[in-house]
Amino acid sequence: MADPQKRHPQNVPGPWFVDTSCISCDTCTDVSPEIFGRDAARKAFVREHRVDDVSLFEFALESCPVEAVGREE
Ligand code: SF4
Repeated sequence: MADPQKRHPQNVPGPWFVDTSCISCDTCTDVSPEIFGRDAARKAFVREHRVDDVSLFEFALESCPVEAVGREE
């Protein structure tokens, strides 16, 4: 489960986030580059929350191999 205490510092404010355990597999950033950005080390972070299709976030949460994508209620 993604750890909100370890949010990547470049996440924009909002419920969805990527934590620092990202291993740069590129899954979320390749599927939804409008939502997930890459830092200089190719680690992912959420750069856009204004997306109508929540399934893109849910896909990333379910497909991340290290469970680095999460949502705070
Ligand atoms: S799917 Fe997970 S490990 Fe892969 S780039 Fe996204 S956050 Fe990182």
